[in-house]
Amino acid sequence: MADHYEVLGVARDASPDEIKKAYRRLARQLHPDVNPGEDAAERFKLVTHAYDVLSDPEQRQRYDVGGDGGFGGGGAGFGGFSDIFETFFGGGGGGARAGRPRSRRERGQDALVRVDLTLGDVVFGVHRDLEVDTAVLCETCQGSCCQPGTQPVTCDICHGTGQVQRTVRSLLGNVVTSQPCTTCQGYGTTIPYPCSTCQGQGRVRARRTVSIDIPAGVETGLRLQLPGSGEVGPAGGPNGDLYLEVTVEPHDVFSRDGDDLLATLEVSMIDAILGTSVTIDSLDGAVELDVRAGIQSGDVLTIRERGITPLRGSGRGDLRVGVQVVTPGHLDPKSRALVQELAKRTRPAPPHLAEFHPGLFSKLRDKFKR
Ligand code: ZN
Repeated sequence: MADHYEVLGVARDASPDEIKKAYRRLARQLHPDVNPGEDAAERFKLVTHAYDVLSDPEQRQRYDVGGDGGFGGGGAGFGGFSDIFETFFGGGGGGARAGRPRSRRERGQDALVRVDLTLGDVVFGVHRDLEVDTAVLCETCQGSCCQPGTQPVTCDICHGTGQVQRTVRSLLGNVVTSQPCTTCQGYGTTIPYPCSTCQGQGRVRARRTVSIDIPAGVETGLRLQLPGSGEVGPAGGPNGDLYLEVTVEPHDVFSRDGDDLLATLEVSMIDAILGTSVTIDSLDGAVELDVRAGIQSGDVLTIRERGITPLRGSGRGDLRVGVQVVTPGHLDPKSRALVQELAKRTRPAPPHLAEFHPGLFSKLRDKFKR
C-alpha cells in the first residue's frame, strides 16, 4: 500500500493545515464527478483514505509508528473502503439488488429402460409397448402443488423475494449478504394447503406405457433417445428424456458380422460328393439352398439381402453360410464295402502334408473377410 504522505504529496512533518490543503487540491482534481476515469476513482479513494488517517491526530500517530490507522478498527469516517467491498460482494445498496425467487418448476430427470431384443427383431425392426415407471403429472393439482381451490401465498419472512439479507460485521465494515429464505426454501411463496395426492410435489410416480418403433440394425449397448418421454419435473416442470438401452440376445444359429448374418451348414460327405438342395430356416423364413456336387468344407454360400437392414442407410446385408462336410463315424458292413469299391475306382490321393490352417472356424472367418 502506498505511503499516505506520498499519496497526499506532503512531508512527514506536514502540519494539519498543510495536509488539509493538499487533500482539498487532490480531491478537486480527482473527484469522480469531475474526473470520471477508473484510475482517478482509485486514486481518489487512496487520497481520501490517506487524508482520513493523517487528519486524525490519534490515527496519524499510530500510522507514524508503523500501523495503518485506517485498518485498526478506529477507522471512523472512512466510508470509501466498505463501498468498494460492497461493490465486490454485491451486498450493498440496502437490498436494492435482491435476487429473484427460484421456481418450483424444474426439468424432470432422464429415465433409462432396458429392452431385450431377438436377432429377428434386429433384422426387421420391431414395435414395442414398454412399461415405464416414472414420475407423471399429478392429475389432482395439475402440477400446481396446491389443494384444488387454494394457491401459494407470499412468504412473510422474505416478502416474496426468496432471499433474506444478513449483515455480517467484518474487519472492513459491515457486509450484507443474501441467502435463500429458509421459510420458503427460496421460492418466495409457501403452500398453505399442499395437494394431498402428491404431497405438494406436483407429480406422482406411476407406471405408463410407452410405444416405440425400434429401428432395424440396432446392437447391444445402443441407446435410443426419446426426447420428452422421461420424468415430469417437480411442480409440472418439463419432462426429461427417456433412453432405451438395447440388449440383443444371442441366437443359437445365426451370429452377426456388421450387417451380415453368419451360420454354418453341416453337409454329409455323401451330399458333398453328390450335391443336393436343401431348405433352410432363415430369419426371413424358408430359403432354398443349392449344395453343388463336390462342395468343400470352408466353402461359403451367400444368400443376398437376407442379412440385417442397416440402422442408417438402405438395403440389407447378406446371409453367409459356411459349409462343413461331416464324415460318417460308423458305416455298416455293406456301406463300407461300397466305399472300398469306390476307393478302388477313384484312386483318391493318399493323405499328404499341406500348409497348416488353423481349423475350420478360422478358415471360414478368413473367407468372410474377403
Ligand atoms: Zn398434486
